[in-house]
Amino acid sequence: MSVTPTSGTPDLTMLADRDPGERARVLLDRHLPDGIGVRAAGVTHPGSGEPIELRDPATGALVTTWADPGAEGAAVAVDAARRGAATWGAANPFERARILRDVAAAVSDNAEELAVLESATTGKPLRDTRVEAAKAAEMFAYFAGWADKIIGETIPVPGEWATYTRKVPWGVVVAVTPWNAPLFTAAWNAAPALATGNAVIVKPSEFTPVTSLRLAALAEDAGLPPGVLTVAPGLGGTLGAALTGDPRVGKIAFIGSVPTGRAVASAAAAVGTPTLLELGGKSANIVFDDADLDRAAHGAIAGIFAAAGQSCVAGSRLLVHRDIHDALIARIREGVRHLRLGDPLDPRTEIGPIVTRAQYDTVCSLIDTGMSDGADRVAGHELSPHLRESPWQCGNWVMPTVLDGVGPEHTLERTEVFGPVLSVGTFTDEAEAVARANGTGFGLAGAVWTADVSRAHRVAHAVDAGTFWINSYKTIHVAVPFGGVGDSGWGRSSGPGVLDEYTQTKAVWVPTVPTPPPFPSLT
Ligand code: NAD
Repeated sequence: MSVTPTSGTPDLTMLADRDPGERARVLLDRHLPDGIGVRAAGVTHPGSGEPIELRDPATGALVTTWADPGAEGAAVAVDAARRGAATWGAANPFERARILRDVAAAVSDNAEELAVLESATTGKPLRDTRVEAAKAAEMFAYFAGWADKIIGETIPVPGEWATYTRKVPWGVVVAVTPWNAPLFTAAWNAAPALATGNAVIVKPSEFTPVTSLRLAALAEDAGLPPGVLTVAPGLGGTLGAALTGDPRVGKIAFIGSVPTGRAVASAAAAVGTPTLLELGGKSANIVFDDADLDRAAHGAIAGIFAAAGQSCVAGSRLLVHRDIHDALIARIREGVRHLRLGDPLDPRTEIGPIVTRAQYDTVCSLIDTGMSDGADRVAGHELSPHLRESPWQCGNWVMPTVLDGVGPEHTLERTEVFGPVLSVGTFTDEAEAVARANGTGFGLAGAVWTADVSRAHRVAHAVDAGTFWINSYKTIHVAVPFGGVGDSGWGRSSGPGVLDEYTQTKAVWVPTVPTPPPFPSLT
């Protein structure tokens, strides 16, 4: 089944003669007519709390102001999701699979609309958001395939018993998502949780609620029953805290920063709710002296500067064998010079602005810290002239920056910047490279570039990380497990293993003889 777009796919030519500062407002009026509030069972409930501004990161223009739904909004969301969980959890798995296939088709059919909305409100370039929208559809399609294959086991035991297990949903799953990839992370958590029979509440970042709300509307139009996918935008400290501390929630999947992840895990533990945490990273991209330097330079640039570095798996630390340092840095400087920064809605743009003003300030201040610690800025000195002019001059622009000479004692060696800033350090041998890679507490991702296949595997095994690439960077797929170790979190949120995250195993025993065995003594 395919769903006809309710409000029409956005036509970029329609926006062409608009002032860039107005485009997001035009799109919201057209594609989110109910505004921003808790969307539960098809109804949007506006909040009445603190006003929250939505700003266009590329121009700084105010798009809209909406009110935080607070703890009251959280209660509306949980009430609706509990009703949704009762129907969805009891539905036939083949029916769930069919509906999720329809949701996948709806997301795919409306991918351009979702991509344009995402770019206009987050500042991420259209070339990235188009890929993310296609991946969101793929996630629903992939987990639709699993929905009717959630199987238990029969287990041989001593005595005359048939003993088997069933995989039971948690009921209500809350998925708290960050601002750097709102649509992608909403689908990333919602698709497997729905496939296993849970109702889901997506709690998007207060800075980027738009595409999650649109996703829920599309899913409902495609046939997802009321209350099964609720979206509850609001402030983390009010609505977010109320959701994650609500004992009626069965499981929490959190994607975001380390401090917030820990606060959420503590609040959840206090009411006995289990968590799955995907947190930050400071991933090492290790280049040995036998590597293909052109490919390694390309991988280093793509690894950190895609999405303007606002990616949890960004290859933010380049560790280079000292013998090839100058040759590799020369290639990287040349590559960075050609990166195209500009209008997120221009399909040729490669790098957009930082999504929030607060994060822009953090990135600028960490660049200053890096330089005062002694690093040498070898790229990213000045903003491109066109970004200093109207309409972009008030946007959150940071030039792709390369800070060379970062040592193990520097702040940037361990601090996640979450912006377009590459720290470069050198090493002399494999042991030193691995020790530096493992020296941060994080463990989300990493990569090695070398022609020596044995060394490639040795390093891949020695670096503490949930994902590791050899002679490549940043490919992830819904079919492959993804998650972190150490400060980067726990649990895996993709691949078939995630089906266990979103279910509990129930064991059922039944005697197979007319005279059942005697009850065991409990003493
Ligand atoms: P954040 O931790 O500030 O916020 C994440 C979410 O938590 C937001 O929706 C926020 O409103 C909510 N929140 C804040 N306080 C809360 C509370 N007390 N209770 C419940 N919810 C609360 O993170 P961010 O700044 O939005 O995102 C950037 C961070 O996310 C980076 O550290 C990045 O590495 C990480 N991230 C990780 C992954 C991953 O897969 N590992 C993916 C994307 C982003």
